[in-house]
Amino acid sequence: MRAVRTVRTVQGPTDHVVVVGAGLAGLCTALHLLGAGRRVTVVERGSHPGGRAGRLDLAGYTVDTGPTVLTMPELLDEALAAVGEKLADRLELVRLDPAYRTTFADGSSIAVHTDPDAMEAEVRAVCGPASAQGYRELREWLTALYRTEIDTFIGSNLDSPLSLLGPDLARLAALGGFGRLGPRIVASDHELAATRDVFSAYFEGDDHTLNLPVDLSLVRSDFRRTTLQTLRSGVHAGDIVTYGTLAQRIGHPKAARAVGSACATNPVPIIVPCHRVVPGSGGVGSYGGGPARKRQLLAHEGART
Ligand SMILES: Cc1cc2nc3c(=O)[nH]c(=O)nc-3n(C[C@H](O)[C@H](O)[C@H](O)COP(=O)(O)OP(=O)(O)OC[C@H]3O[C@@H](n4cnc5c(N)ncnc54)[C@H](O)[C@@H]3O)c2cc1C
Repeated sequence: MRAVRTVRTVQGPTDHVVVVGAGLAGLCTALHLLGAGRRVTVVERGSHPGGRAGRLDLAGYTVDTGPTVLTMPELLDEALAAVGEKLADRLELVRLDPAYRTTFADGSSIAVHTDPDAMEAEVRAVCGPASAQGYRELREWLTALYRTEIDTFIGSNLDSPLSLLGPDLARLAALGGFGRLGPRIVASDHELAATRDVFSAYFEGDDHTLNLPVDLSLVRSDFRRTTLQTLRSGVHAGDIVTYGTLAQRIGHPKAARAVGSACATNPVPIIVPCHRVVPGSGGVGSYGGGPARKRQLLAHEGART
């Protein structure tokens, strides 16, 4: 039996309701209120309705800014049904198969199908049987999570965090719904094989070059990006450089401290070898993984500190 949840109510007349925001939530709310006999005014600060399911008019192009997958069309139907309308009378939904194609940096791609068997076959063809089995398990786990969440969490009024408390919360936790995806992430060696081989060669001492493509375009400032690029291309295994020397190499001789910050925020340690940068005053200095690890990496590369 489900726990009965009390919903917060308001005092005073409710015959005329103002809905703030004409996103999908506001529009659905307005339709349900209209269906319940209220007068409704929807206010929207944007130039047209839709919110994140919106449209951008840009240089003569119309760009869809929001959802690519209509996961629950029945909810739209439900909202329109509240005012005696049907979704099919207003919108032609065309089911796409595949729903979309995901393309990876190495040029490979995977077609995303809604049908579980078709998707499993695609994962098997692109990533192998172990990943296909992993996909099946992931799908079963997500289905169990969905069944637990749909009434109590997704389809429910939550007026405060306390509204979350209940037996389904425990069920969700037991299913691992709050944990990291961890082992449930589909195990695929396909995209990571080259990286794994380069790291194995590095740690086994066969090849210290760590020759992998690195994309630093998301590094926050030009200064930090230049620091990391110079470090990667100019300080090789067996070498060390001081923060000050690296600052000189990038043409900012007084910026040793900023070079330290660039190293401290290096998004790909080891591959961009910030462990090879040490203080001019001696010692190995600090390192995200701890100074002991920095010392180990330098010793592994045969650097004299
Ligand atoms: C790139 C992208 C892809 C997505 N893909 C999917 C998908 O594939 N499947 C899926 O199910 N979902 C997807 N989503 C999520 C989905 O678009 C949103 O969950 C949904 O549109 C949110 O609707 P909403 O009404 O809750 O909020 P919003 O769409 O954010 O609407 C809020 C509205 O309120 C207005 N507003 C806010 N404050 C005020 C104010 N003070 N006065 C007046 N107006 C105000 C805003 O302008 C806005 O129009 C995607 C979202 C994005 C951005």
